[in-house]
Amino acid sequence: MLYRPLGSTGLNVSVLSYGASPLGGVFRETDDREGIKTVHTALDLGINFLDVSPYYGATKAESVLGRALKEIRRDRYFLATKVGQYGDGLFDFSATRVKSSLDESCARLGVDYIDVLQCHDIEFADLDQIVNETLPALVKLRDAGRIGHIGITGLPLKVFPAVIDRVGPGVVETVLSFCRYELNDTALETLLPYFNRRDIGVINASPTGMGLLTERGVPAWHPAPPAMVAGARRAMDYCRSVGADIVKVAVQFCVAHPGIATTLVGTANPENIRKNIAHVSEPVDQELMAKVLELLEPIRNHNFTRGRPENRDPLIA
Ligand code: NAD
Repeated sequence: MLYRPLGSTGLNVSVLSYGASPLGGVFRETDDREGIKTVHTALDLGINFLDVSPYYGATKAESVLGRALKEIRRDRYFLATKVGQYGDGLFDFSATRVKSSLDESCARLGVDYIDVLQCHDIEFADLDQIVNETLPALVKLRDAGRIGHIGITGLPLKVFPAVIDRVGPGVVETVLSFCRYELNDTALETLLPYFNRRDIGVINASPTGMGLLTERGVPAWHPAPPAMVAGARRAMDYCRSVGADIVKVAVQFCVAHPGIATTLVGTANPENIRKNIAHVSEPVDQELMAKVLELLEPIRNHNFTRGRPENRDPLIA
């Protein structure tokens, strides 16, 4: 495993890290014992950064992750969770909820300290509230030593500078962007110099585009339009025809970017996390990667957007 500093947080994180949403049964019904084994495999093979949210599986992912962490020494991992999103369409970014949410997450996870607490999907929020209420509440928790660092997450890229430009330096220490740096979309790159100048750590999530670039394909709730699914399918078909694994190409593409501290991959299958970790140090087949990128060119950066109208990226598909 390789490690990179996460902005100015002082956390040296594995370039591939573990996203726990599948433990909540987000992609398919999962076996908790397998999920717990997946977490242990991830940690044993060098992953040291874990991301979750009370939203995933309506708190189930946090509870299963908490069971997995019971027997693990607290200094073996950095733990990130989130506040603000609690169900489909259910958001609460108020200061009171931030505090109770942290307490509830800690209880489920069996810890008394969260390394990175993030505002979850701020494109669904009134950004004035994020700036004036949610982030100040998080700063208080950080000052009190309940959490280590503060982050924000979202799909539309414009929400990141929209918030960061309005708060003092050091308030937002990490950003979690998903589906915007993967084989079929590299739009996140345009913001990397902006984050870098501010020493903000970049967490890139969903190297397979939440299942888009996997043999199983997208789950029913996936927002990708049919043209995007069909475009991704061409690259997958090609990989299959030459006996290659598209997930390997996807993981290697993401972890290679030096401006991205870590890429979060989700799975509840121990064998898949083992393979994904192996991909980090396996040689890259440059010819295959170039071919896959070429096949994905027709859908490049044609991604979906979402959130309040004022928070959406001007788009795209
Ligand atoms: P992902 O791209 O990591 O894809 C997960 C899917 O890929 C699952 O269906 C999984 O079974 C499959 N998969 C993983 N490894 C595989 C392998 N080797 N072979 C075949 N299939 C494989 O998407 P994700 O899980 O949505 O994202 C990773 C994590 O990032 C999440 O669990 C979550 O922690 C985080 N995330 C956060 C946000 C946010 O904060 N808004 C959004 C998206 C993701």
